[in-house]
Amino acid sequence: MPPEQIRPEDSGELTTHLPVALDHVLAARERITHVVVRTPIVPSSALSEHVGASVGLKLESLQPTGSFKVRGAAARILAEPGEVADLAGVVTASTGNHGRAVAHVARQLGVDAVVCVSDHVPAGKVAALQALDCEVRVGGDSQAEALGVAAELVDERGVVLVHPFDDVEVVAGQGTIGLEVIDQQPDTTTVLVPLSGGGLLAGIATAIKATRPDVRVVGVSMRHGAVMAASLEAGHPVDMPESTSLADSLQGGIGLDNGVTFPIVRELVDEVVLIDEDDIWAAMGFALSHHRLALEGAGAVGIAALLTGAVDVGGPATVVCSGANVELDHLATLATGGANPLTT
Ligand SMILES: *Cc1c(COP(=O)(O)O)cnc(C)c1O
Repeated sequence: MPPEQIRPEDSGELTTHLPVALDHVLAARERITHVVVRTPIVPSSALSEHVGASVGLKLESLQPTGSFKVRGAAARILAEPGEVADLAGVVTASTGNHGRAVAHVARQLGVDAVVCVSDHVPAGKVAALQALDCEVRVGGDSQAEALGVAAELVDERGVVLVHPFDDVEVVAGQGTIGLEVIDQQPDTTTVLVPLSGGGLLAGIATAIKATRPDVRVVGVSMRHGAVMAASLEAGHPVDMPESTSLADSLQGGIGLDNGVTFPIVRELVDEVVLIDEDDIWAAMGFALSHHRLALEGAGAVGIAALLTGAVDVGGPATVVCSGANVELDHLATLATGGANPLTT
């Protein structure tokens, strides 16, 4: 990702051959307005003081089901031709938040949903799924295996697969956050975005680079198991074993056959940084103590990037706080000043 690739004068030409364009994002925004929340950006005086420039927190943690994933899920389901009530159903595989989002959106729209999850998904997230009236299938050692089960159901039942990230409409849905950021905090110079499969980052980068190519877009992952970062370095999608992280929503691969998010992230994103576990824990504690804000690890990595100086901002910045779904016992430990439970 050499910086010269994203010069403003180049951006029009460069974006035309990418799988998702600004028009997709604008169309997704039209389709999903009645299902998702236009989340606020709240100023963080504590972070602003820390970095010496104004910092806003884009609170996607306030979406129904506690993460931004309702945007992509709604954009994908509502992109199906015909009446939504005529769909045979929808299926997905998910580390938790995407599954919850698909189940929630499907229920809102009156469509049946099946969610396939791997054995590693925390118990709290499985229970939350079951509470959303969908069929939950637990099994498989990884996100990739769970996705294989979902693909089989597509063949068997004729249901629509809602991929967690590598899909044009899903990326377009997540990109609506980028439109809102530019609208709500027009003086921003850097946007920090949690990164796993890259749907969130690719969507936001598509919206921002098409409208404000001067704004820097930075991806943030946990240090271990950062598959997109490793893939960017290799020059092609690679596979890696999953490891335990506070940012469990950032676990999982990008798919060796990735055709949407990898090319977009490679071309449009300025930088990707990696965050250590203890710094994620500190960022979760920072959000709780300064803002009374409950963030899961994945939702706090952007704050960590600023607190640690992993990303240096020279002007106003926006941190996408992607999710709220932290285990309650972790929150209790944070509130009482306890140490990171995954390393002690
Ligand atoms: C899914 C998720 C991410 C990462 O999104 P990708 O599109 O897979 O990169 C980040 N934060 C939270 C809370 C998530 O649920």
